[in-house]
Amino acid sequence: MKIEIENLNVVYGNGNHAVKEINLTINNGMFGLLGPNGAGKSTLMKVLVALMKPSSGRIMVNGEDISKERKKLRTMLGYLPQDFRFFTRLRTWEFLDYAGSLAGIRDRRERIEKVDALLDRVGLLEARDRMANKLSGGMKRRLGIAQALIGNPKIIIVDEPTTGLDPDERIRFRNILSDLSQNDVIIILSTHIVGDISSTCHDMALLNNGEMVFSGSPAGLIEEAKGHVYNLSVTQYEYEQLREDIHIISSVPGDAGWELQVVASDVTGYNYRTIDPNLEHAYVYYMEQKLSRVNPTVKTELS
Ligand code: ADP
Repeated sequence: MKIEIENLNVVYGNGNHAVKEINLTINNGMFGLLGPNGAGKSTLMKVLVALMKPSSGRIMVNGEDISKERKKLRTMLGYLPQDFRFFTRLRTWEFLDYAGSLAGIRDRRERIEKVDALLDRVGLLEARDRMANKLSGGMKRRLGIAQALIGNPKIIIVDEPTTGLDPDERIRFRNILSDLSQNDVIIILSTHIVGDISSTCHDMALLNNGEMVFSGSPAGLIEEAKGHVYNLSVTQYEYEQLREDIHIISSVPGDAGWELQVVASDVTGYNYRTIDPNLEHAYVYYMEQKLSRVNPTVKTELS
């Protein structure tokens, strides 16, 4: 599978330019789309699933323009939107059975088999007969991914799937996606949570203000932050000064005051040690150090 996004722009009716001139190729496996709220991720996802038309540019799937092949695209696609809701008064299995009918599985027995296999895969077999709208947040999200998978999609798009989940459920959800990515499929995971990307994606893009500011591997993004992440041992007074103008990633009380992890371009004058960045550091570095020179309103959000 291959998705090629070419010179894509989306301008909303109110003049809001939400996606700006994006060029990107996505191959098999798990692809992460990272960016703060308002970056344009959902808009891009909606265009990718043909729920919205771009203002200009095009998207090719295996060489075919999706705006001309919408029906074909639908059969290949599984989508878990950010605001996924369940109908009331359907049991877990009934909901999935209904999704199976919508996906075109006509044979009832085949559908039931598929439903149970999928419930098993996402760890919901025991919740089979519970009312879908009474499941916990994490279980609902897993039922959401099951409905996205029922038509055997080749492209799976999930928008902010781990927001609001507790750490256990987050890991569980990521593992389900990782398992899927072993097959000949593309999984696009849109998120503002750095941890979603670091643990699962081999390729990623960083969106900010509608623009794609980075594309490549998570390791490539980390590479850019090398030499810009420090451990500082500071006094209370220095800590208060630094807080004003550096992004402090963590602060732990130490012997003489505070042990800080910071992303900064220059820390001369302080008691510092350079450390190896992780993806979270790299994201902060990229958003705060690189982009804020161009756009001082850039804000990062970590969780
Ligand atoms: P993200 O998913 O990264 O949070 P969105 O795609 O939801 O970003 O939003 C990108 C930008 O487009 C934001 O500035 C948002 O306010 C704007 N936007 C989103 N939906 C609409 C809409 N229906 N009409 C006008 N502007 C919108």
